[in-house]
Amino acid sequence: MNSEKLLSLAQKHMDVLCNVISDRSVGSMGNRKATQYFKNELSRYHWNTEETLLEVMDWKTDGATLRSANNSYEVFSSPYSIGCSAQGYLVSVQTFNELETKDISGKIVFLHGDITKEQIMPKNFVFYNPEEHQQLISILEKSNPKAIICATGHNGALAGGVYPFPMFEDGDFNIPSVFMKDVEGEKLFLEQEKLVILESKAERIPDTAFNIVGRKGKNVGRRIVITAHIDAKKGTPGAIDNATGVTVLLLLAELLKDYNGKYPIELVAFNGEDYYAVPGQMKYIEQNGNDFSDVFLNINIDGAGYKEGLSSFSLFDMPDEIRNIVLEAININPNIVEGLPWYQGDHGIFLQYGCHSIAVSSNWFIENMETQEITHTPKDNLEIVNYSRIPEIAVTIKGILDKLSS
Ligand SMILES: [Zn+2]
Repeated sequence: MNSEKLLSLAQKHMDVLCNVISDRSVGSMGNRKATQYFKNELSRYHWNTEETLLEVMDWKTDGATLRSANNSYEVFSSPYSIGCSAQGYLVSVQTFNELETKDISGKIVFLHGDITKEQIMPKNFVFYNPEEHQQLISILEKSNPKAIICATGHNGALAGGVYPFPMFEDGDFNIPSVFMKDVEGEKLFLEQEKLVILESKAERIPDTAFNIVGRKGKNVGRRIVITAHIDAKKGTPGAIDNATGVTVLLLLAELLKDYNGKYPIELVAFNGEDYYAVPGQMKYIEQNGNDFSDVFLNINIDGAGYKEGLSSFSLFDMPDEIRNIVLEAININPNIVEGLPWYQGDHGIFLQYGCHSIAVSSNWFIENMETQEITHTPKDNLEIVNYSRIPEIAVTIKGILDKLSS
């Protein structure tokens, strides 16, 4: 297939994933449309497809309000939080020590300052979960406040580019919570020990989602697993995160339609990288019996195709023999460079199981991960995509597979 045709195919897939379907958050109708589209496209190129049902939770809110005797404050329902209609005394908590020592039972607890510098990992998230996060959740659950208000700023590494960021984004955590800007929190601080009324019209909705796996090649020996998460955060078209990754997989479905190389190939659309419970990833691990020893190589695409800068291929745990093959394939294209290591993606799972892995992304994002204000916001839309990057990446991955097979 010539490069012009690949480019227009990439544009078509991106349009479907970001325009025709605007919301790909786990549990949404758009998410199911996206996985159905992915599956249909794979079938069209004669891949064997497997669809796995995931029981998930969708979520919506009609907004939140916070009032005191004299003021009202702008607050937002924490994603996946239960709603509430609560009235109680406001207790200010700025440090871990204050959380341990203050009596917050039956009160509305106001977290701000030092204690809200980071987004708290979901309580059942197994891949990365600092001791301090788990303790914070556990103390809150034991001390039983009526509700939680969090004043937050930026947290690029864990929460993406959003301001304010939700301190809790966890459907398994059952204390209702809202969040607000740190500057708004400074005003609320003056209301401590006073009575406040908090209402959050949030609702959890049980729903379904799917993982899609496509398979090609001989059904023997260790396999190469190429992955991209198909879900996006609520409130963003998720163009770079991660419609471009899914589109790379779809171009590979076409480029590899006659593949019969040494290694069986799996194309995996993971459902849940940007969702608190990572259901698709957990299910895939379970389906593989917690054992990835028959995975020869993982290639994960996430954050690729940004308009600025080059594409990056970061190599992890690579024996020289494979490393040289990969570098040779990368060096053919001047728009692709070897990238720095980063871990906030699905390749992290394969690394934990001891696989060789390549993480494909945009070099600009890797270098600006902490400070960029795009990820998980409406700014992550088609306007920031360099469409040429997508076929370049697909062709380079095909080049790697061809070299490994020969
Ligand atoms: Zn992502």
